[in-house]
Amino acid sequence: MGQCGCGDFQADKVYRLPRGTRVAVQLYPGCEYCHTDMGVLLHFLTGKGARDWCLATDETENVTPDEYGACLQGIPMIGPEDLREAVKEVGYEIDPEDDNAYETLAEYIEDQGRALLRAAFFACQKRLTREKRTQR
Ligand SMILES: [Zn+2]
Repeated sequence: MGQCGCGDFQADKVYRLPRGTRVAVQLYPGCEYCHTDMGVLLHFLTGKGARDWCLATDETENVTPDEYGACLQGIPMIGPEDLREAVKEVGYEIDPEDDNAYETLAEYIEDQGRALLRAAFFACQKRLTREKRTQR
C-alpha cells in the first residue's frame, strides 16, 4: 500500500489512550496506481513516536472509557450528499438505448466505481473542512 506515496503518514485524527499510547487515524482514499482499496490506516505510537512524527499535542484527543469500560469515536468517511457530489463530478450515463452510455448500473460501477468512491471521499473531506470552519 502506498508505493507511490499515497499512504504516507497524515493523521486525520489522533487519540491518546489512557497509558499514553497514541493512535493516529488516517482515512485512505485508495489508489489506482497502487491497486489499493479505500480504508482506514491506524498508526500506533508511543509518546516519543508521536513527537518524532510531529504530532501536535493540541490535536490529540484523550480517550477515556466510560463506566462500562468502553469509548466510541466515529469519523465520517462518506455521506449521501458526498455521493451526489461524486456522481456530478464523475458522470452518470446509464441508458440501455444509448450506445455511448453504460447499459446497466453494474457496468457503470465496474468501470467508474473506484473513481466514484474516491470523488465521494474527497467531497466528504471538503465538506467536513467547511463544516469545521463554520463551527469556529
Ligand atoms: Zn498509490
